[in-house]
Amino acid sequence: KLSKRLETVANYIPEGAVFADIGSDHAYLPCYSVLQGKASGAIAGEITDGPYESADSQVRKCGLSDVISVRKGDGLSVLQKEDEVDCITIAGMGGTLISKILEEGSGKLSKVTRLILQPNIHAISIRQWLVENGWELITEEIMEEDHKIYEVLVAEKGDPKRPYQTYSYEANLLLGPFLAQKQSDIFLKKWTGELKHLKSIIQQLEQAGYTYENNEKYQELSKQVKLIEEVL
Ligand code: SAM
Repeated sequence: KLSKRLETVANYIPEGAVFADIGSDHAYLPCYSVLQGKASGAIAGEITDGPYESADSQVRKCGLSDVISVRKGDGLSVLQKEDEVDCITIAGMGGTLISKILEEGSGKLSKVTRLILQPNIHAISIRQWLVENGWELITEEIMEEDHKIYEVLVAEKGDPKRPYQTYSYEANLLLGPFLAQKQSDIFLKKWTGELKHLKSIIQQLEQAGYTYENNEKYQELSKQVKLIEEVL
């Protein structure tokens, strides 16, 4: 059985797609999606030996070696022109690493119609990359599993700024336009927690004699507080 986190990612794979799962580790997502009949084929990319081998043996164990190709390499460099990949999934990493993988592999994205990205932290850097590269968020999800909160961002080529209309652009980038609109319980839990955390650091800075005027960190944290309070 797949984790709730990866199942949410799998739900957004287009019916019959061939997709590339980058940083696949155990290759659970490609195996599950193909066995469910959702995807027609997949490429599992891994940069590290151990996870690459575990992906390879999982695919063999499932008898899927003819439809799932396991490849070793950095990011999207494992993809070739003839692969005809419709969709890319990148899950379980920080948002900064995910956007770096997209940026470095941007030449491989011309035929890709959907990106499904699941950052553990810093979703903001993915939203920024998407806006700058012509990808429109079509939906977002937030969920909790084993006391950790995860976000899933789904994007297609389109008008990158379309979803960014309810709140200020910066607030949407930080909190997520769809998530901010919906304000689910988990979303509120995440951002009330974050707000409390930021305020306590600001208080510590104050106690150390810093002010908005004389400290950059103070300024940066207060800006974030304002963006969160704009939405909550
Ligand atoms: N995607 C799986 C999931 O969500 O359960 C595995 C997540 S695991 C925490 C992250 C994996 O990404 C590791 O196995 C790591 O080796 C791989 N990885 C990190 N940077 C990578 C890169 N630039 N290219 C390919 N794989 C990478």
